[in-house]
Amino acid sequence: MSFLIVNHRFNIFFGKHRGILVDTLKEFHIWLETDVCDLLKRNIDKRVDFENLTQVEQKCMNYFLREKVLMLSEKLPKQDDISANSALRNSNNAIIILDKLHDFEKTLGQLNEVLIFDLEIRIPKLVTPKDLKKIKELLFKYEFNTVDLIMKYDNAEDIKAIFSRSTFYLNFYIATHTRFEDYRHSKLSIRSIPFAFDMIKSCGKVNKSFFNCSQLFINDARNHNSCLKGKITIDIDGTIKNCPSMPQSFGNIKDTKLQETIKSKDFKKYWNTSKDQIAVCKDCEFRYICTDCRAYREDPNDVYSKPLKCGYSPYTNKWKEWSANPLKQKAIAHFGMQDLVQNREV
Ligand code: SF4
Ligand code: SF4
Repeated sequence: MSFLIVNHRFNIFFGKHRGILVDTLKEFHIWLETDVCDLLKRNIDKRVDFENLTQVEQKCMNYFLREKVLMLSEKLPKQDDISANSALRNSNNAIIILDKLHDFEKTLGQLNEVLIFDLEIRIPKLVTPKDLKKIKELLFKYEFNTVDLIMKYDNAEDIKAIFSRSTFYLNFYIATHTRFEDYRHSKLSIRSIPFAFDMIKSCGKVNKSFFNCSQLFINDARNHNSCLKGKITIDIDGTIKNCPSMPQSFGNIKDTKLQETIKSKDFKKYWNTSKDQIAVCKDCEFRYICTDCRAYREDPNDVYSKPLKCGYSPYTNKWKEWSANPLKQKAIAHFGMQDLVQNREV
């Protein structure tokens, strides 16, 4: 009898009642119903006697074998084979909340020293065409994978003209009075968001469309925090933080070397908090493809409480509007989000 093992391209995760099958090559997931989960749980990594399975179970197994989700093997994979498939993200990412562009130049230099390849820039003040050109000049000095820019600006045509030849992915989220259709061309994308968008309190939303099915993300999320690991925030006045919405600060970029800050144990306090430690999330089938938020929690006094802005329940397998949940109203008031919630801006 052979062992039934999962092909390394796929991951199968079980929640309280259902499970998901993740294709890390094509980066999507599908649901697995309860009886399929039970069958897989009973047989994966075990020697399987097909004679002992019911006809329906055999049909189901054959489907997975045919689709190469499952394989039969004479031996279980060795730890070395599993580790080879467990590479972690080794780069940091940063959020800059920007006021003055001359500070931006110095900040970019420091971020470059700590190997930031993914950057999010939030600019609360109204941006001018001159600012846009300066931002381009400074950004294009460096190599990035992706830069997201969240800013108040009214003319998408300017952005298309100035940034059309980006060598890295550039995603603009423009807070504007006039909503327009999403634009995507080559590595540039432009999307409109409500003018009153709150650049701090809008963070931390959990949504199906933010799920990440890449193997690197999954490997990281198994043992680390899927948002805060490797994250560096430079606040509007230069304060260094892990998360922009958390109060803890670690000096100022003007007189502190980021290379030193990120060595500090305290700065990395949440980096190893995985979803397996978090209430409700630990029972959720999405826990390794879902991002986490430790700043806005259902219980502000419990660092292991479920993210406030998630409306999914692994116990009912249903999504509901998170902000309408009566049990979350106390936390919404605690974080001062009542108005934003009322206007659907978080
Ligand atoms: S912990 Fe929450 S608020 Fe902080 S950066 Fe992550 S998602 Fe945003
Ligand atoms: S319960 Fe937790 S893991 Fe599941 S979708 Fe919500 S935040 Fe993500």
